[in-house]
Amino acid sequence: MPLPTVKEGGVTSLKERGNLFEIATRQIDKAMKLINIDPDVAQILAQPKNELIVNFPVRMDNGKFVMFKGYRVQHNNILGPYKGGMRYHQEANLDEMKALASWMTYKSALHEIPFGGGKGGIKVDPRQHSKAELERITRRFTAALGSNIGPEYDIPAPDVNTNSQTMVWMMDTYMNIVGTGDRNTVRGVVTGKSVTSGGSHGRAEATGQGVVHCITEWARDRNFNLDGCHVIIQGFGNVGSYAARLLSQKGAVIVGVGDAGGYIANSEGINPHKLGEHVHKTGSVAGYKGAQKIERADFFGLDAHIFVPAALELELGVPEAKALKVKMVVEGANGPTYPEAEDILIGKGIDVIPDILCNSGGVIVSYYEWLQNKRAEQWELDDVLDRLERRMKQTWATVRHYVTVNKTDWRTASYAIGLERLQHCYRERGIFP
Ligand code: GLU
Repeated sequence: MPLPTVKEGGVTSLKERGNLFEIATRQIDKAMKLINIDPDVAQILAQPKNELIVNFPVRMDNGKFVMFKGYRVQHNNILGPYKGGMRYHQEANLDEMKALASWMTYKSALHEIPFGGGKGGIKVDPRQHSKAELERITRRFTAALGSNIGPEYDIPAPDVNTNSQTMVWMMDTYMNIVGTGDRNTVRGVVTGKSVTSGGSHGRAEATGQGVVHCITEWARDRNFNLDGCHVIIQGFGNVGSYAARLLSQKGAVIVGVGDAGGYIANSEGINPHKLGEHVHKTGSVAGYKGAQKIERADFFGLDAHIFVPAALELELGVPEAKALKVKMVVEGANGPTYPEAEDILIGKGIDVIPDILCNSGGVIVSYYEWLQNKRAEQWELDDVLDRLERRMKQTWATVRHYVTVNKTDWRTASYAIGLERLQHCYRERGIFP
C-alpha cells in the first residue's frame, strides 16, 4: 500500500502523513506474530483502555474566551500507572495520541520500568500564545483532566512543545485541587519538573543522553570510531540539541541540521552550542550564520554516518530512505519512520534503532524523578546519570541478543521483548473478575 510521504522541500500536515495508529499497529503486529502472542492478550493491547477528550474555555489576554481541545489516551496499566508526555501542537489528534500512548506501554515494558503507557496534549500552536495564556491553557486543561491523572494513576511529562515550566504549572494546579493535606505528597503527579519544584537532576538531558548511549554501544559493537564521524540531525528541540552536544563531546561532527523552519549544512561541522543559542533566539535553525542553507531533499543525501531524526512523527518516508547514505538511524523522535522506509533502510544494510529502545532516557529518568518524589529525596546528578547509563546498556544488550538469536530487526526485537513481559503478566494475573 503506497503511503504519503513528506513533500519535497516542505512539511506536509500530519493528517496527510497517514494514520499513525494504523502504522503503530502494523509495527506491533509483526512482533506479535514473531512471539506467537496469545490472541486474548493481543486483543487487550490492540486498543487503549481509555481515550479522553476534554473541551475547555480559556480567557485570552484580550479578555475573549477561546475553546481548546485536550486529549489523554491511557493505553495500558498492567505494569504500573499510565505514563507519558503531553504535547502541544496545532495538529494534535486522537489517532496520533493512541499510537504514542501504545508506544509508551512497550517502551516501559522493554526497559522494565514499572509504568504503563499514556499520551496526551492540546490541539494548540503554542507560538500563537503569550506565556500568560499558555499558563492559563495548561492550568485549565489540568483542571479539566481532574482525577484522570494522579501520581499513582497517570503521570504526564514533557513532550513536543512542552517543558519543565508546563509540568510545574500542571503540578501546582493539581496540588491546589487535591487540597492542603495532600499537597506535598502529590508532587509525582507529573515528571520533567524543574529541579527547584521537585524535578530530578539529569531529566532535561536524559532523552538525548539515552540516544547517545545507544550510539556508543552500537559503535562499540561495530568497532566504529565516533571521533570524527559525521552526524545529521533533524529537529533541534530538547532531544536533538542535547544529542548534538553530547555527540560532539565524543568528537562527532554535526554536518547537517534541519527543523520546520529550514535545513542547514556545513561539512566542517556545526557548533551545537552556538546553534542552540541561535535557535533559542529565533525559534529555528534557519538563518544560522555558521552553515549554508540547503533544501530538505539534499539534507537526507548528505555524506554522514549517523542520522538522528528528532522532530515529529513520519518524517522519514521512501524518498528520504532512498537518499540516506548513513550506517545508522537512531530514532530520537517517536515514530519518525514509515514501515516501507524502514524496509528500504534495512535492505541497504542500515541499522534502524527504534524509538522505544533509544529515546527512552526521558521516561527512565522520569521514573527516577517519581521515585525521588515518593521518598522525598534528591539524588545527585552523577547518581542519576550512572543509573541511566546502566539501564540503557542493559536493555541494549538484551535487544542485541534477541536480534541475533531471532534474526530479526531491532524494532521487532524491542517490541517482542516488551510484549513477552506484558503477556507474562497477563497470564499470571488474568483479568478481573
Ligand atoms: N515524552 C517522552 C517520551 O515520549 C517522555 C515521557 C515520560 O517521561 O513520561 O518518551
